[in-house]
Amino acid sequence: MRIVILRLGHRIQRDQRITTHVALTARALGAEGMLLDSDDSGIEKSLQEVGVSWGGSFYVKRITSWKSEIKKWKDAGGKVIHLTMYGISLPDAIPEITADALMIVVGAEKVPPEIYSLADWNVGVGNQPHSEVAALAITLDRLQAASGKDALRTQFPGGERQIIPHTAGKEVISKVK
Ligand code: SAM
Repeated sequence: MRIVILRLGHRIQRDQRITTHVALTARALGAEGMLLDSDDSGIEKSLQEVGVSWGGSFYVKRITSWKSEIKKWKDAGGKVIHLTMYGISLPDAIPEITADALMIVVGAEKVPPEIYSLADWNVGVGNQPHSEVAALAITLDRLQAASGKDALRTQFPGGERQIIPHTAGKEVISKVK
């Protein structure tokens, strides 16, 4: 299943850190990339650096019209999930979500109201306000588990470094010859 994140409402000064965390989480849990509705180039640069160090092909693409990105995605047969605390509960939505290509929309500030009707599913990760990072992580995990994949076992080919997990201490090997 292809998964792309659409990040709306990013404010360059205020949301730099959390948008970077949205992208890092998306990457770590198996999304292929993130569309960023902003001309902030800093997030793209940070994620490129992460890719060089740790591998994989995750991308950040700056966009100027989120509506036309949604239209293109849907015209190509993709489906759209909007994460919102007002939506139907994730465990209830999961059995309905069958698609080869999913766009997951997360907001920063208040999202444009149209998104509620453009989305195929408005999904709540619980119905309490919390964080887009937490909502995205749980959604990616549950979605992939439903299709028999473990989001925590996403592979990251290439890269300069790799962590060797240990019960205690840190080991990082260099893959650069
Ligand atoms: N104040 C904003 C508003 O009124 O729409 C919401 C800010 S919230 C921190 C930012 C984003 O986190 C939301 O757009 C939504 O994508 C996500 N989010 C927060 N709580 C959520 C929940 N319980 N379920 C799903 N997504 C959630």
